[in-house]
Amino acid sequence: MSIEYESLGLPLGEYQLSRADHRRQREADGIAAWVEREVAKAPPWSEEKIREMQELFDSETGPPPWEYMRWRVRLYCGHIQEVERHRRASRPDEGVGADVPCAECGKDPAVIVAFEVVGPVAEPPMAPQVSSRNTASRRGSAGRRTKAELEAENSALRAEVERLRRTVTE
Ligand SMILES: [Zn+2]
Repeated sequence: MSIEYESLGLPLGEYQLSRADHRRQREADGIAAWVEREVAKAPPWSEEKIREMQELFDSETGPPPWEYMRWRVRLYCGHIQEVERHRRASRPDEGVGADVPCAECGKDPAVIVAFEVVGPVAEPPMAPQVSSRNTASRRGSAGRRTKAELEAENSALRAEVERLRRTVTE
């Protein structure tokens, strides 16, 4: 199985934001503002619900790191960042949760305007792993799970927004 990884522009080169970039950023801002309003309207979660969600995140270990590719991306704000995407994705700017918050200036969301693939996040191990449980807890203690939790939460929220937006428009 091989994937043709795409690239768009030169993330590290000179870059002039295009009309389409501005439009995509406006759309992303609009969605983010809408989510914020909806979240503000929603009743706060009960303690039971919070516990349920935590258990869900804890049980969700996700694919191992070698399932991911690293991409260098230029964000709308002009900052360069590296993001991880599943290796089956041929580009980093599509799908739920593609817009990332900028780690440098905090712009959130910031759409991706240029990108190039860097390489796999990790090489697959030669021998089979001891057990997935151990792997999960090791990764958790290294802080990776926290990021995965945030991403899962983010994806769930965005999926919900997509669903609601489809029912609102058209
Ligand atoms: Zn930035």
